This record gives sequence, structure tokens and C-alpha cells, in this order.
Amino acid sequence: MNSGGDNLPPLRDVIRKHKLAARKSLGQNFLLDLNLTDRIARSAGDLSACDVLEIGPGPGGLTRSLLALGARKVVAIERDERCLAALAQIEACYPGKLDVIAGDALKFDPRPHLCPPVKIIANLPYNIATPLLIGWLQTKMWPPWFVQITAMFQREVAQRITARPGEKPYGRLSVMAGWRMQAKILFDVNPGAFTPPPKVTSSIVQFTPRARPLPCRAQALEKITAAAFGQRRKMLRSSLKSIFSDAQTTLQSAGIDPTHRAEQLEIADFCNLANRL
Ligand code: SAM
Repeated sequence: MNSGGDNLPPLRDVIRKHKLAARKSLGQNFLLDLNLTDRIARSAGDLSACDVLEIGPGPGGLTRSLLALGARKVVAIERDERCLAALAQIEACYPGKLDVIAGDALKFDPRPHLCPPVKIIANLPYNIATPLLIGWLQTKMWPPWFVQITAMFQREVAQRITARPGEKPYGRLSVMAGWRMQAKILFDVNPGAFTPPPKVTSSIVQFTPRARPLPCRAQALEKITAAAFGQRRKMLRSSLKSIFSDAQTTLQSAGIDPTHRAEQLEIADFCNLANRL
């Protein structure tokens, strides 16, 4: 069944009935086309044996698709209390399958509410998309508590996440994400697909955790990438001066040309340097 078959009212009616005028401060750009939310849900693969964590269900378009496509259970964290009544209507349609948690996804630990395997699927609020991703990347135990993330980002952020060395958007986020995950852009979503339309194009990015990322401490890697990309036009022997007392020698002993710039290093080089901190 797709999400058209659940007898729930059209999303425009839901928004009107519950007076869900979009709030910019909450990053509210709603998807009202259930064909598109079905496409996003489907791109996460089979959900029948998974719990799904959704961040920011809003009026519930994507939530409806996840449930209609057979998710074992959906746990949805929503900060805007105006949305709760609309979500309760979906809950009633799928008894026992939807847990709505009213709260801030940046502060709430959803793990006790979820049974593995867990997939994270979300049309993320843009104002907290990067901090949420960084939090998931910094999970202490690895492999982490989720087996996959499928989420909407601004296209420019998606390009930074998936960039390779030498490419213009390659930076801290590319290294942090590429170290522990394989990430790919699945498809773009035009501003017109959202209500209200944002100023920029968006992309759905899918992440699969690496089973064995290179051994390295997340904090150390963050410190190195912050210094190296903080002054990305400088040679590494200069940009890493604040971190290593003798950056030139450390770089040479790591087999890295001290005259290279951050954008030229592979993720393995950054891990190598992080392990010398
Ligand atoms: N999933 C819905 C859709 O696709 O139409 C809404 C997506 S909208 C881009 C982002 C949603 O995240 C909004 O419903 C907003 O209220 C919610 N939100 C914003 N900040 C949040 C936070 N810190 N924790 C949980 N939800 C949040």
C-alpha cells in the first residue's frame, strides 16, 4: 500500500484544520506531495523489520509514507506542539506503530525507545541538520545504534558531506562523515516541492555506517580538521602550527608533504595525523 490508501485527509486540509502555518524558526518547510514522501521512504529500502527514527514529522506526510510502506514502528520526535493533534490522527490509523515524542531532537536520546535494527529517515529542519549529523557521527560505540540514515539536507551541505579530496566543497564535514560512513546523494528536491518553498535546492543523502572505520578518536579528528580547513589556503606546515609544536616534522613522519593544503589530504591522512596528537 502507498500512503494514499490510509483514508487520512489530504495534508493541506490537515495544515488548515490544525493551523500549522510554517514557522521559519523551526525550519518548517513541509512536504505535502505523498508521492514524494513515498519516494523518500522507499529509498530507505525494506522497513518491515526495522524501527524508524523520524526527526520533525510536522504534519506527518513522511510519517504516513513510512507507516504505509510497512515500517515495523516509527518513533517521531517533534518540537512543535501544534503538530501533535495531527500526528495523533495518524497514530490512531496505525495502532501501536507510531510513538510521537514531543521534544527537542538535539537534546532527546531516542535509543531507549527503539529496537534494533534502526533506520533514521527524516526531512530534517535545516537549522539543526548539521549538529544532528555531527552528533550521530560522534556516537561512542561503533558500529552505531542505527544501520542507515536517509535524510534531506540543503544541496550545498549534501555536497560538502559527500565531497572527495580535491573537490571544492571538501572540508571538515566531508572528512568527519567519510571517516565513519559511506554517504551518497540519492536525488535532488526542488524548492517548489516544499510549502513554503525554501530559497535553495535540497538533496536526499543516504549514509551507511562503515563496519570498521580507521581507528581514530572523533575529538582528535575534529581538532585536526578544524585547524587544517580553518586556514584552508595555507600549507599544512603552517595551518597545523597551533596543534603540533613541530608541524613540519610531524607531517613528514606521517608521510605527508608539509607544503600540501588540507583539501589535498585523504581521510586516512587526517586519521594518521589525529593519532599523533
Ligand atoms: N517531516 C515533515 C515534512 O516532511 O513535511 C516536516 C519537515 S520540516 C523541514 C522540519 C520539522 O522539524 C518541523 O516539523 C519542525 O517543527 C521540526 N523541528 C524543528 N526543530 C526541531 C527540533 N529541535 N526537534 C524536533 N523537531 C524539530
